[in-house]
Amino acid sequence: MKKFGLKKVLAVGVACVMALSLAACGSSSSSSSSKKESTKSTGKSSGTLIVVTEPTFPPFDTTNDQGEIDGFDRDVMEAIAKDQGLKLEFKSMEFQSLVPAIQAGNADIIAAGMNAEDPERRKKVDFTDTYYDSGLVVMVKNDNNTIKSEDDLTTDMKVASQTGTTGADEANRLKDDGKIQEAVILDGFDTCILQLQNGDVDAIIIDKPVAENYMKQHEGQFKTVGKVLNAESYGFAVKKGNTKLLKKLNTGLKDIVKSGEFKKLCDKWGIDSKFDK
Ligand code: GLN
Repeated sequence: MKKFGLKKVLAVGVACVMALSLAACGSSSSSSSSKKESTKSTGKSSGTLIVVTEPTFPPFDTTNDQGEIDGFDRDVMEAIAKDQGLKLEFKSMEFQSLVPAIQAGNADIIAAGMNAEDPERRKKVDFTDTYYDSGLVVMVKNDNNTIKSEDDLTTDMKVASQTGTTGADEANRLKDDGKIQEAVILDGFDTCILQLQNGDVDAIIIDKPVAENYMKQHEGQFKTVGKVLNAESYGFAVKKGNTKLLKKLNTGLKDIVKSGEFKKLCDKWGIDSKFDK
């Protein structure tokens, strides 16, 4: 009897683990199981929190030589987690899937260089205090002498940007206003770069620090032109109403700024600290 009991417990245990990992992956989980996962993982310091990102956005979000998610966002989240006693697991997905993953309860935190000041996003998720001030720029090939600013984009030109981003909003706006021929909306910044290199598009709209980081590492290929197009500030996002987790992240962020850990991570990734100005 004892033996049977143990087997039964094990079987139930295995079934639970399988159900949870399915829900965590968000692949074929039903809405009820993903809801279960969200109450289980969200905001509990004992459970592992799932952090999602789109890793073609260096130096904020990238992958290391082992293919693991890496970057300033990950390091900052890890430092906050250490400060607040949270356990994290990182997962990557397309940028446009990040907010839906939080809404569905398949993830707990977005750490993806995400503009926290976008009104549409603010209706769907809650953001922490912001940790980086950014803006969009136009990037072209180094030898391009026609495009000197956004105003030089014309109706025969194609402009690439990454799906679901503020850059894509800007490219789509240019198209809707009849200023360009096509807004080419692609999966990642890496694909945008490839298309610009190949001459498939004339320009990219991308976040300034990401453009600058790329240009530093690939000298002489590209340049940014004109003024910064907008002002945005990055924040981490959580499910709407998850004030418990939001408070922990905000406290952790304040703590690591105070301790100097945040500045250390800025230096490591070549990022200007907004708290040092
Ligand atoms: N900052 C931009 C946005 O919030 C792009 C972010 C990204 O590509 N990771 O939409």
